[in-house]
Amino acid sequence: MKKIQNYVDGRLLEPAGGKYLDNYDPSRGKVYSLIPDSSSEDVQLAVDAAKKAFPGWSAKTAKERSEIMNRVSGLIHENLGRLAEAESLDNGKPLKLAKTVDIPRARDNFSFFATAILHDEDPFYNMGESGFNYTLRKPIGVVGCISPWNLPLYLFTWKIAPALAAGNCVVAKPSEVTPMTAYLLSELCMEAGMPPGVLNIVHGTGPGAGQPIIEHPEVKAISFTGGTKTGEHIARTAAPMFKKLSLELGGKNPNIIFADCDFDKAVKTSVLSSFANQGQICLCGSRIFIERSIYETFKKAFVERVKALKVGPPQGEDSKMGAVVSQAHMEKVLGYIELAKEEGGSILTGGRTAPQEGEFSGGYYIEPTVIEGLEYTCRTNQEEIFGPVVTLTPFDSEEEVLKMANSTAYGLAATIWTHNLNRAHRVAAGVDSGIIWINCWLVRDLRTLFGGMKASGVGREGGYEALHFFTEPKNVCLQF
Ligand code: NDP
Repeated sequence: MKKIQNYVDGRLLEPAGGKYLDNYDPSRGKVYSLIPDSSSEDVQLAVDAAKKAFPGWSAKTAKERSEIMNRVSGLIHENLGRLAEAESLDNGKPLKLAKTVDIPRARDNFSFFATAILHDEDPFYNMGESGFNYTLRKPIGVVGCISPWNLPLYLFTWKIAPALAAGNCVVAKPSEVTPMTAYLLSELCMEAGMPPGVLNIVHGTGPGAGQPIIEHPEVKAISFTGGTKTGEHIARTAAPMFKKLSLELGGKNPNIIFADCDFDKAVKTSVLSSFANQGQICLCGSRIFIERSIYETFKKAFVERVKALKVGPPQGEDSKMGAVVSQAHMEKVLGYIELAKEEGGSILTGGRTAPQEGEFSGGYYIEPTVIEGLEYTCRTNQEEIFGPVVTLTPFDSEEEVLKMANSTAYGLAATIWTHNLNRAHRVAAGVDSGIIWINCWLVRDLRTLFGGMKASGVGREGGYEALHFFTEPKNVCLQF
């Protein structure tokens, strides 16, 4: 059975304690590889390596760092097929999705930040006759990057690429649930000639390998994506140590459909924004609010399309949805469907597991599920489910829909469907979300701000925001 290794000081290493964890293939429900069950000892080795590498890496010119990172990007591109297969096997997502979204985006994360550092500029404040100010940015040193399981390599590289590009050395931990592509990336970094210690990847559990990263005094900044509860814990640990913190957390995103929308596009895109990656994207619109005059028509068209979505083994050419990531997660999602029924919801389609045959009979498959008839304040409509479950709720006015949309603790993303330009901008301004799409969903430009408000996080990723997070700025004032 394949044994994943840690990547420390430019070498692939066994965990110091020699212990391993099982890694499951969710499409079959079977263990297919082993992951290092790393501890603070492994994190210490990684921090030591990163500290040792920092003077050399941070002294390189932007062009030199850019060249190495672009080589990694090129290797991700050359290995796209192999990485997509690994991602799909590890996570349960359709292979097609991994090939067209996850891996290309991991490649682009590296090339985007590799080139961004060649074009960045810092503010200069001219005081005329008396002098001037300028901003001097320095990399922070050793930084920690911790990522979740839903878009494994995509989100892992979204953090480490800006950290490395800005001149830091990184100690990173991917989710223990989906470690494989981060491991393959370590091999590609070695091939690309990344100097030893610049990037270190320690595998293992949150408490075992994540905790020693966040509490290590030499790790000066933490960039974390994951659940709100974990984010809260990380903030409690790291904030008193005055570490820089970027927290990208959960969501319960509203998808708001006005009667004057492009109906066909709104229906089609809403199916995607509800069920892409089995609904396990933090940006999925899990609460669909529909203006009452088109509620029944929208519901009929939407449910019809959802019923046609094929759930199947991730490798299947016609599988639109694969397996959810783990048995525990499947049980959590099914538990929420039961809760929705108890809260008075009616299941319009789905609501059960979607058993597969033969070698896939042990996999974790759930039917795409659409529920109506729930109060917007109930738990099903307030808590993050993070699976293939959406609710439909009618509304009568802009004011009412904003009240319902903003009623949760979260504030990550929102989608607005309308052809009324004034209303589109009014609702965008009124909705408490950090990312808003009008008449589209998940259209990404890597230069833009990315992140949430309220319990969805602190800080923004993306573009120069991410690069600047990984620097310590100084204002330098000179008087003539
Ligand atoms: P978790 O919070 O459970 O885990 C995220 C990462 O944190 C994992 O690598 C986990 O390790 C690690 N971790 C857990 N405990 C600690 C700890 N004490 N110290 C350090 N690290 C720790 O989230 P999930 O992996 O379940 O991901 C799903 C969540 O991520 C959802 O809430 C989703 O909304 C959110 N998310 C947010 C996004 C955003 O951009 N805002 C994007 C994508 C997802 P391990 O896996 O080994 O336990």
